[in-house]
Amino acid sequence: MISSSFPAIRAQNPLKLIFKAQIRRYRALAIESSCDDTCVALLERSSPTSQVTVIGELKETLRSEQAGGVVPLDALHFHQQTVARLVRQLGETAGFGPTDPPDLICVTRGPGMMGSLSATLQFAKGLAYAWNRPLVGAHHMLGHLLTPKLPQKIVEHSEGPQYPFLSLLCSGGHTMLVLLSSIDKHEVIIDTIDIAAGDALDKAARELKMLGTMIGPVLERFVLEIDPITKESYNNVRTDGQNPEFPLIMSMPMTSSKHQRIPKDIRFSFASFPSAIQHFCKTNEIGKLQRQFAAHKLQELVFGHIVDRINVAFTKSKMATEAKEKKATEHFWDLSGVKDFVCSGGVGANSTLREKLRNNLEGLQPLRFHFPDPALCTDNAAMIGNVGMEIFETLRLKSDLDVLAIRKWPMDKLLDVDGWQKVSDEEYRKVTGFLN
Ligand code: AMP
Ligand code: ZN
Repeated sequence: MISSSFPAIRAQNPLKLIFKAQIRRYRALAIESSCDDTCVALLERSSPTSQVTVIGELKETLRSEQAGGVVPLDALHFHQQTVARLVRQLGETAGFGPTDPPDLICVTRGPGMMGSLSATLQFAKGLAYAWNRPLVGAHHMLGHLLTPKLPQKIVEHSEGPQYPFLSLLCSGGHTMLVLLSSIDKHEVIIDTIDIAAGDALDKAARELKMLGTMIGPVLERFVLEIDPITKESYNNVRTDGQNPEFPLIMSMPMTSSKHQRIPKDIRFSFASFPSAIQHFCKTNEIGKLQRQFAAHKLQELVFGHIVDRINVAFTKSKMATEAKEKKATEHFWDLSGVKDFVCSGGVGANSTLREKLRNNLEGLQPLRFHFPDPALCTDNAAMIGNVGMEIFETLRLKSDLDVLAIRKWPMDKLLDVDGWQKVSDEEYRKVTGFLN
């Protein structure tokens, strides 16, 4: 492997210069710790148009089953204890260290838990100073949204998603549909009015006596193990509380007659699901079949709600475009150019959700679906490196060394925060080895 400490732009002969610029790979160290995972990764890229490669990645997760959730102070201490060791370990295997540091440092700046974010942001600032390397404080959710641009084990489309594309971020803390028109132009089209889908699934699964803190995958396995004939019979039972064997009362939010078919603001809502499951478990004798039934219906209705709201957004966009043609002036997001649909975040790994999106979304033109590898759906450092490199290369921006973590950082305010600094052409070439 060619070392990135290769002296990039100093050659005298122009041909040699081009050759060197093309073969040099620049490397980025990425660090992510917005919640309870400490993750580090080393990425590299050999030209502005090539895909990034993930050289190595390490992750450790705070154990919080006993505490029943992530305790912020425990998470802070965990990241403080873990991050330096993981970076050293990664450096030993991936071949970097104080004498041969990576060219760029990318770290999650927000949104997330303040202690968790600050622990590794401070460490990354220290590395950037000690190694004299630029720092990029990246947006965690943008990391998730751009995950399909990373190399995947299963490649459905040789090209990654092309702007403008829609990205559904479906995780433990967020559930939103975002229209991305470029790296720094995003519009949140649907957000949740209460809790995130992952949070709802975790809370409801806990009521069904499944163990752990992030138990979406346990729920998914439990439902996948139901035999198809039984599942089919469950599909024929309504959840209106009338069935004596399965008196579960749970419905898809925002579909009753009191709701407008096409509302002014389209929203997700998931808070009713854990309450419905809790009520069912408290007021009934729950055997194996009742657990199976409730778990299956929970997934069907939560994911059905997501698909239903996205389809309302497509319908609304179509209606708005037609109205515009009749000279209406109201601003509205235009989904007519969207050909790519990304589903990311931890819940995005769920096979039932993926199947429902693929089979039931009514895009305004045929959609190409991008479902990242499950390992890339949950929090990881590679996605932060990917976003940090894109910000550095495309927007030519880096972060000041006095930046602080941001607990709440709206998706559409990527650049509206303090601490961005312009990268000069000279620094860009020095760091990346690319000519322009
Ligand atoms: P994130 O917040 O992106 O790190 O994702 C964590 C959330 O995703 C938690 O709520 C998990 O329970 C949920 N999750 C992870 N894998 C799955 C899955 N296969 N099915 C449903 N939920 C999942
Ligand atoms: Zn996340």
